[in-house]
Amino acid sequence: MTLAMKLFLPLAGGLAVTARHMIGVAFGDKAVTIEYPEEKHVPSPNYRGVHRLNKDEQGRVKCVACMLCATACPAHCIDIVGATAPPTWPDREKYPESFVIDELRCIYCGMCEEACPVEAIELTGLYDLTGLSREQMIFDKTKLLSVYDTTKDREPMPYGKPPATAASETKLLAPE
Ligand code: SF4
Ligand code: SF4
Repeated sequence: MTLAMKLFLPLAGGLAVTARHMIGVAFGDKAVTIEYPEEKHVPSPNYRGVHRLNKDEQGRVKCVACMLCATACPAHCIDIVGATAPPTWPDREKYPESFVIDELRCIYCGMCEEACPVEAIELTGLYDLTGLSREQMIFDKTKLLSVYDTTKDREPMPYGKPPATAASETKLLAPE
């Protein structure tokens, strides 16, 4: 066998695989690619995409500014400024006056979601995250809450209401 033939044989093998897939798809095999963006990819239920800040049943941000997510974050991309909760919020001492996540530094590990004691922060199935500048990829509280509004129907919160372990739940659900 000449050197040219030895070099060509692996290439011929690859071409044969490609041809087999082309013929398979042409004759009814399920395609493994999709016509994005006309056709939307549906990620697996445990996909970790863009964050959202959840709201409680009264429409308030669920976060109690405990800082556990920011402490757990290995990428140090969560910045929270806590403030004393308004007097009309007797179920908590603090709330996040400012809550910012740098989505470009995030490695989408899910540690923040794991750390949160009140299911206030979650990673959603949103994956088509784009921005025209670095600033646009730094999500503030308003944007994170708007992701909740966008995704809440197709991705309900795991428990649907404030966690039963919170001593404050009774107060939270009680009429003021
Ligand atoms: S997913 Fe991981 S890296 Fe991203 S904000 Fe949460 S803890 Fe930090
Ligand atoms: S999102 Fe959860 S873990 Fe992070 S500060 Fe708010 S309550 Fe704490």
